[in-house]
Amino acid sequence: MGMGQEDQAGRKPATEAVHGGEPRQHPYGALSAPIVQTATYTFSDTAELVSFFEGRSDRTEEYGRYGNPTVRLVEEKVAALETAPDAIAFSSGMAAVTTAILALVKSGSHVVLFSDCYRRTRQFVTSVLAKFEVEHTLVPPADLGELEAALRPNTKLVISEAPTNPYQTVPDLGRLAELCEPRRVRTMIDATFATPINLQAHTHGIDLVVHSATKYLAGHNDVLGGVLAGKAGLVDVVRDLRNVLGGVMDPSAAYLTLRGMKTLDVRVQRQNASAMALAEALEAHPRVPRVWYPGLPSHPNHPHAARYMRGFGGVVTFLVEGTLEDVSRVVDAARIPRIAPSLGGVESLIEQPALMSFFEMTTEQREAVGIHDGLVRYAVGIEDADDLIADLLQALEATKG
Ligand SMILES: *Cc1c(COP(=O)(O)O)cnc(C)c1O
Repeated sequence: MGMGQEDQAGRKPATEAVHGGEPRQHPYGALSAPIVQTATYTFSDTAELVSFFEGRSDRTEEYGRYGNPTVRLVEEKVAALETAPDAIAFSSGMAAVTTAILALVKSGSHVVLFSDCYRRTRQFVTSVLAKFEVEHTLVPPADLGELEAALRPNTKLVISEAPTNPYQTVPDLGRLAELCEPRRVRTMIDATFATPINLQAHTHGIDLVVHSATKYLAGHNDVLGGVLAGKAGLVDVVRDLRNVLGGVMDPSAAYLTLRGMKTLDVRVQRQNASAMALAEALEAHPRVPRVWYPGLPSHPNHPHAARYMRGFGGVVTFLVEGTLEDVSRVVDAARIPRIAPSLGGVESLIEQPALMSFFEMTTEQREAVGIHDGLVRYAVGIEDADDLIADLLQALEATKG
């Protein structure tokens, strides 16, 4: 049980973002968390060392890869925000995803992955795990009928994102948990797009929730990190493997993440509102045949999103009429968003998936995996929504015909 949760039951996410997981008094009476920039911890004498290993001492730290007080604060704050019993931090989102998956499977296991997912997660499951005789099935996003049909006696883990990237599908999380739990299949949701402000998947029966902290949690496009939250026993299993594999969060990265999380609620509320307004403006635009935003009633998974999410997030995916090059002109004509991979920070970012994550594929290969050349992913920052909308409308206008 995270300390944060015991003390603070019932507090709202905005309060937890600021105070969750932090002691009332930091060392030295410092208001902000100290960065404990050390690789190891000393023992005053052999007797203290022996009492530590015998579990008779109240010391918590031994060596940097096994724990750090600044990193622990990140973990406690995430556990408080998720209302999960425990959480652990990693050097990146992918360190969190890969360590968690490896901790839960062995050779001969089977993993089910929804196909609309982060490219590197798919690569890990379909290429890396395959080298170790871990089988997998890819199922269409949010399709629980296909999921049920894919479950086998050796299925150990089901992985989905919520919402997924880039089409923002949201599975029926409660039903997903109901299908998996009785079969002793673990469920893991990558909730990077949602953040704990918009979704607490663990409260809907999901075993493990993972985030790329690089995105919304840290929120300033200045640090890489990952976190995993969930049931205490399961988190312990993943922590043991993290301590072996070594993908731990650095204390300075932990400080930036902690500092970023203080404003998580205000940033995400703004991003939810701006993305909704942008999605509506785009849906009404003649050059935009389709918009995927889980807050729009036109999104096929809007009912699931409305049921499980408290807000719909800051990413809007849309199709612009025209060729790859026509659409690049729109992207280039937008003056506020910067062209970069990533999302969730204070700066708005724009990208064409066909030229970013799917660059090495041909148009035909991209179509086969459902990535249209005219697709644009807009990750709103915390700028003024009217400015963002006016800017994108001028880009569509300036490049038409
Ligand atoms: C960015 C991202 C990751 C990977 O996180 P890193 O911090 O870049 O390692 C995983 N899942 C999703 C949904 C992401 O957006």
